[in-house]
Amino acid sequence: MTLAIPFDNSYARLPDGFFTRLAPTPVRAPSLIAFNRDLADLLGVAGGDDETLAKVFSGNTLPDGAEPLAQLYAGHQFGQFNPQLGDGRAILLGEVVGRDGIRRDIQLKGSGPTPYSRMGDGRAWLGPVLREYVISEAMQALGVPTTRALAAVRTGQEVIREAPLPGAVLTRVAQSHIRVGTFQVFAARGQADALRTLFDHIVERHYPDVNTALELLGRVMEKQADLVAQWLSLGFIHGVMNTDNCTLSGETIDYGPCAFMDAYDPETVFSSIDRFGRYGYAAQADIIVWNMAQLANALLMLEPDPEAALPAYQTAVEGMPELVRAAWLKRFAAKIGIADPRADDARLIADLLGLMQANQADFTNTFRALTDGGARDQFTDPTAFDGWERGWRARIEGQTDPDALMRSVNPAIIPRNHRIEQMIAAAVQGDDAPFHRLNAVLAHPFDPDPASDDLRRPPLPTEAVQATFCG
Ligand code: AMP
Ligand code: MG
Ligand code: MG
Repeated sequence: MTLAIPFDNSYARLPDGFFTRLAPTPVRAPSLIAFNRDLADLLGVAGGDDETLAKVFSGNTLPDGAEPLAQLYAGHQFGQFNPQLGDGRAILLGEVVGRDGIRRDIQLKGSGPTPYSRMGDGRAWLGPVLREYVISEAMQALGVPTTRALAAVRTGQEVIREAPLPGAVLTRVAQSHIRVGTFQVFAARGQADALRTLFDHIVERHYPDVNTALELLGRVMEKQADLVAQWLSLGFIHGVMNTDNCTLSGETIDYGPCAFMDAYDPETVFSSIDRFGRYGYAAQADIIVWNMAQLANALLMLEPDPEAALPAYQTAVEGMPELVRAAWLKRFAAKIGIADPRADDARLIADLLGLMQANQADFTNTFRALTDGGARDQFTDPTAFDGWERGWRARIEGQTDPDALMRSVNPAIIPRNHRIEQMIAAAVQGDDAPFHRLNAVLAHPFDPDPASDDLRRPPLPTEAVQATFCG
């Protein structure tokens, strides 16, 4: 059966200055690695044998109704404003409205150069494509707002990184790819009309009940505060929280050098390009405030009298740390079985984290062991846990079913870094079995099959991954 994608495009209706229309660059020998049937069903995407899917999701064949384009945006990269970024290796094919009534983008990533490629080749290699596929789908299963992976295809071409590597294309699905940097590009250019058009588009698409730019800021701040709190509660480190990788929809986007932490250490940094730890684990709570200040700055331009409106925007941004703190407390309290936290629960949580840090306790396994048993064995000095446990047990006494709450938020399985690296190494050798296994197991992170116990184990010293790369 031929592949049918019920495109219903809206971004392509926006003015010319928002994007460049161009088709993906064909690849030599596309072959399908994976196609996400569940997601396809949700999107209303039907049919297609493996050969057709490989052709469409490599960019070799344009499906009916696609209106391919590369989006323009700007962004602060590691704090430095870059006035023009844009999709340097991605092409938006178009949008579909899913069975759930939600509109989503279908985008190819690694599909060839665009006018925004700058020095890049427009391509991706197999490693980051499979990494993004596995981790974004794992995030979805963990309940985190995220872009999704619809397909992965080998290109049959090499890309040159430190060495020649097999190329691949990822098909990414997002509620939209509109970023803080999309607002920044028009604000920086002084294009108030374009900014207004973008505002109207985002309101219609994601926040239909919002009327003003200040309200939009507040809504995005709430979503981003909860998103980052959720990352922190899972030990997730995004790695590149540039403003061009920060969505208006509140979805996690752009899985580059991201990683989950093993032993708890708030200063954990994996990304090889993050030399000063700007985007390290704990720093994420501060960086999201900074990113929201950049959004506020861009939105201010929508005000008829920006100077008069400035204090209200400042007040809004000054409230962001409290939004993050409250979201953090809610998420971490749930991890220890408390549904409605009191202010002093922050102390109880911080004490546990401090002990975990001092005792190299594994982040995921320690929290999970609070219900499964054996938490004290996670600590190099198990007696360190005993004192904390007494206070904690007293606190959760009388709570309704703390174990059920904890089991619903503390995963048994996360995509551990060393497993991701092992999976990539196998795929480079042509063995995709570890990739498929990770996807299958990570679809059920809260109720794991005992047959996947090996994936719960932290890395041996010889397996531990020191650094992650963008690709
Ligand atoms: P990122 O750090 O992945 O968010 O990318 C930042 C910018 O660099 C975006 O504009 C990307 O489209 C662009 N970019 C990243 N990798 C490549 C590449 N291999 N070729 C062209 N552009 C790229
Ligand atoms: Mg990006
Ligand atoms: Mg990237």
